[in-house]
Amino acid sequence: MLTKEMKRGDLFTVSSWREKIAVKWLRFSLEYPEYEDLLICEDDSCDHTSEICWLITDVRDQEPVENATYSIVRMVGDDRFHEVETADLIPVNYEQVCSCGQIGCWPAEEEI
Ligand SMILES: [Zn+2]
Ligand SMILES: [Zn+2]
Repeated sequence: MLTKEMKRGDLFTVSSWREKIAVKWLRFSLEYPEYEDLLICEDDSCDHTSEICWLITDVRDQEPVENATYSIVRMVGDDRFHEVETADLIPVNYEQVCSCGQIGCWPAEEEI
């Protein structure tokens, strides 16, 4: 699968973008996992409406996990970062990319 082979610095275009601009792949998106507060009260007759019945999970203690559905990329010749769908990324070769980041500044021999 394509996502397994992605390395930092690999060049792609984004198929959903109107212009063919080269982007460098940086990493997959990170997100915090869904979490639930943990019931620690063992009293069966309790209705667990009190705060002390629960161990509140702080999201800041959670490790973010990789979400390979989205990737963080940076435009060639630009400092801006973009979050794009990983499935929209099409690999390109270094020879196809102009120093300005555009693809096809000169007459292209083959369509990408
Ligand atoms: Zn309780
Ligand atoms: Zn150019």
